[in-house]
Amino acid sequence: MLISFEGIEGSGKSTQIKLLSEKFEKKGLKVICVREPGGTLIGEKIRDLFLEETDEIFNPLTEVLLLYSSRKQLDEQIIRPNLAEGNIVIADRFYHATIAYQCYGKGVEVGFVEYIHEKLNISKPNLSVLIDIDPQLSRQRISQRDPDRMEKESLEFFSRVQEGYKRLEENNKDFVSIDGKKTIEKISEEIEILIAKKLNV
Ligand code: ADP
Repeated sequence: MLISFEGIEGSGKSTQIKLLSEKFEKKGLKVICVREPGGTLIGEKIRDLFLEETDEIFNPLTEVLLLYSSRKQLDEQIIRPNLAEGNIVIADRFYHATIAYQCYGKGVEVGFVEYIHEKLNISKPNLSVLIDIDPQLSRQRISQRDPDRMEKESLEFFSRVQEGYKRLEENNKDFVSIDGKKTIEKISEEIEILIAKKLNV
């Protein structure tokens, strides 16, 4: 089973992924957590290239193709074999993030991303959980971090990303959002209930 967590920076994805993995492990289930870009040797090199500051302007389609190079590698090497063994794979962002960031945020056609995802035959999440916070709160929460290339984008950019995530939620029954302003414990409880209801685990 593949579960992805989505949301803008500082929404609480890593915090909730850690809590959810612990809950699954207590039930005796094997959990693999992956992040993108990255998760394989090739993917981590792509991650460095993707997040590093550069004087050149990154073309949004170059971003999509880099993300998909990493995603294909991750799917073949880690996600598919683990799903085949019956393990739970939790992804810190996946396919929907490309639609929110590169399509809604940077103008790439949604159909292009859907097309290459399909053609590359990459796994699709059984459930995606959006942790929903507004860009202002995101800014406050990540103010202590040394920002990477994506985290340095403008508030307007993050508003467009947020809008993209909301559209995905409207159009997809396997994409569910949770209010990220609630406490860590409350969100964790809601995620547990949601997963039990939707996926029976
Ligand atoms: P992400 O992985 O989405 O970037 P993190 O899980 O790293 O987000 O959380 C970013 C920061 O916000 C961390 O300092 C974390 O402790 C804090 N945080 C996460 N969830 C909440 C919450 N529900 N309420 C308040 N602070 C939170």
